[in-house]
Amino acid sequence: MSSEKKLHPETYAITSGRPKSEAGASLNVGISLNSTFEAGSGLGYGRYGNETWKALEIAISEFEGGETLTFSSGMAAISAVFSILPIGAPLVASNQGYSGVMTLLKSFHESGRLEVRFVDVTDNQEVISALKGAAMLWLESPTNPCLDIANLQTLIAAAKKMNIGVGVDNTFATPLVQKPLALGADIVMHSVTKFLAGHSDVLMGSLSTNDPALYKRLEDARKFNGAIPGPFEAWLALRGIRTFVMRFEKAQSNAKYLVEQMKNDKRISRVRYPGFGAMISFEIVGDAQAAERVCAASSIITHATSLGGVESLWERRRRWEIESHVVPENLIRLSVGCENSGDLWDDIAKSLDAI
Ligand SMILES: *Cc1c(COP(=O)(O)O)cnc(C)c1O
Repeated sequence: MSSEKKLHPETYAITSGRPKSEAGASLNVGISLNSTFEAGSGLGYGRYGNETWKALEIAISEFEGGETLTFSSGMAAISAVFSILPIGAPLVASNQGYSGVMTLLKSFHESGRLEVRFVDVTDNQEVISALKGAAMLWLESPTNPCLDIANLQTLIAAAKKMNIGVGVDNTFATPLVQKPLALGADIVMHSVTKFLAGHSDVLMGSLSTNDPALYKRLEDARKFNGAIPGPFEAWLALRGIRTFVMRFEKAQSNAKYLVEQMKNDKRISRVRYPGFGAMISFEIVGDAQAAERVCAASSIITHATSLGGVESLWERRRRWEIESHVVPENLIRLSVGCENSGDLWDDIAKSLDAI
């Protein structure tokens, strides 16, 4: 097998998860609308498996490695991971990240469901010190919305040396930038809602792992907690993956162009961009109200939450009460889409006049 030439992402984005090639075969997997299957073989019941999920899971595994399970949302996927940890288990996690995860972890910590040790993931020493006796390290890198970077290589290696499980939320970077399983992580998670599906029309999550025993536990969590994806949503997400590589490359090149313009604009005081990807967070010269006016003034960029779609979106993150107070009041998170970069900059430059 090792001599087999590995295909490139833009190829397997298109070839993976297809029905078996034979005379008369359908090109695309069907939308399997079945709550049950005849006895005597594989799937059994609709909460246990579905051929449309399976096709999507095969495609995600091509990108991330391992075996993949899809869920009804990114939060459902993350919840499945936390659900298999023992009551009161110590979990090390970033003190700043996706607000839904932060909210869930804070409530788990308060109720005693987990003992969460919140750390600054940019500080290797702080993370490694917190690992002692922990059951799991949960990382998100870059973080949403501050775009902080965790040194995955160092932190995963340190945790594995201590026999601690590692999960990585790879939603922002995507497997085109980093592959946590290849770095030794046990689980890589996606909000498939974002870049993988890519059209702001579906919610879904995924977990991939190389460990068959862990896969089984997570599969049982999906079966019995019941947060399964819909077959139509799975079909849409797989359709989205066909163009994932070209969408991401276009959005990333747009983002790099916009970052250069922003750095030269006196109305912007700070630009956060990790050097890759399609997410930019920036602070304007002005307060929260001024940032709200900027977001409301655009005509191409939509003033909305979420990210990773072909359409550019932006919002002031602190408009959400659950957003971390580490995030500046005037920070605008921009998800760069696949429109023309000049049109996007014109829209931003005009909107900044609203400060
Ligand atoms: C959106 C998001 C999630 C949650 O995913 P949903 O599909 O909205 O449930 C988790 N992590 C990150 C980094 C996200 O951006």
